[in-house]
Amino acid sequence: MGPEIMAQAAKIVRWLKSNRDLNIDISEVEYGESYFRKEGKIISEGGLAQCDAADAILFGSIGGDYVTQVPPDEWGQTRLTALRKRFGLFANIRPVRPFPELYEASSLKREVIDGVDLIIVRELIGGVYFGKPRGIERTPQGCRAVDTQVYTSEEIRRVGRVAFELARSRRGKLCSVDKSNVMETGKLWREEIEHLGKTEYPDIELTHQLADNCAMQLVRRPGQFDVIVTDNLFGDILADCAAMITGSLGMLPSAALADIGENIGRPALYEPVHGSAPDIAGKNIANPLAMILSLSLALRYSIFSPRHAELVERAVRDVLARGVRTKDISKDGVDFVDTEQMGDEVLASLSGC
Ligand code: NAD
Repeated sequence: MGPEIMAQAAKIVRWLKSNRDLNIDISEVEYGESYFRKEGKIISEGGLAQCDAADAILFGSIGGDYVTQVPPDEWGQTRLTALRKRFGLFANIRPVRPFPELYEASSLKREVIDGVDLIIVRELIGGVYFGKPRGIERTPQGCRAVDTQVYTSEEIRRVGRVAFELARSRRGKLCSVDKSNVMETGKLWREEIEHLGKTEYPDIELTHQLADNCAMQLVRRPGQFDVIVTDNLFGDILADCAAMITGSLGMLPSAALADIGENIGRPALYEPVHGSAPDIAGKNIANPLAMILSLSLALRYSIFSPRHAELVERAVRDVLARGVRTKDISKDGVDFVDTEQMGDEVLASLSGC
């Protein structure tokens, strides 16, 4: 359903360009299943070059059974994780801020989620998703599968610095999450983050949690967190868990960055946390708000235009305050709008902002 939700973000960014002096060049690149069906590749060389040249890539969700048909070489070089690696996007920023208008859509109680405003910083191009050796050995006696969790000091420090900087620009609290009780990478993770805190960020209140405890704390008392920093695997899981604070995966945007602030470099990649939702794809019922909020992150972090980012966020809040809901965030039996209508409602709110 990538194309369905991307179409909504695209109309908003074009509107901002035409009506609110957003000074950017926009180009579109086809990526994923539809391009593969036509060309046997998931992205063209020209498309990759366009991505290389961009300040920000706004990326629709991908995934589906077709990926097993993509030739392994092509897949290895152009799948999303490979693109993140290509662009050096080691820091994944996942803000979790439930809208009061949507408290009733969360599976958690109102008093648990009231006022929650946290950011999960997930290391994105290291750890067990990339470590070697990996593979499945097939022997007459049976199979043996191996994945390798590996981190270097430098990989931990660079994502740690992004998290500390974010904490410094917010409420000054950082919680580092690992499994230092049972994993060697966890011990190094804790050692490096602790050292960074003491030497470079003594002003930040640093705490540590084990990943299993953090999963529990996220649903028990999420208000205790300001910024969380963790590795690739734990970040993947904890962010989906935290999505429920906002009511739906369809509400959670993310940014993949190579640094933050003036050093952000390019390109950075902005995308919803959710996948391609094959169960609802093509039905025009997906919630496009995570995609639209990903646009607002791009405007804030890469385009350096907080004014336009706030306009988009305000428009989303206004739509929710007016009671407009897609199916995933509507109460049973209450009317809901489709993907396209939700995009139009955000546009309508924008014109009033
Ligand atoms: P998913 O996030 O696609 O869907 C999980 C559940 O949430 C589904 O029931 C889906 O209908 C619902 N959902 C997700 N987004 C929604 C939205 N915007 N509006 C309403 N409901 C929404 O996760 P999955 O089913 O585990 O993965 C499906 C495919 O997506 C897989 O091929 C996976 O590899 C891929 N994936 C891609 C990305 C990405 O593009 N960054 C991220 C995660 C998964």
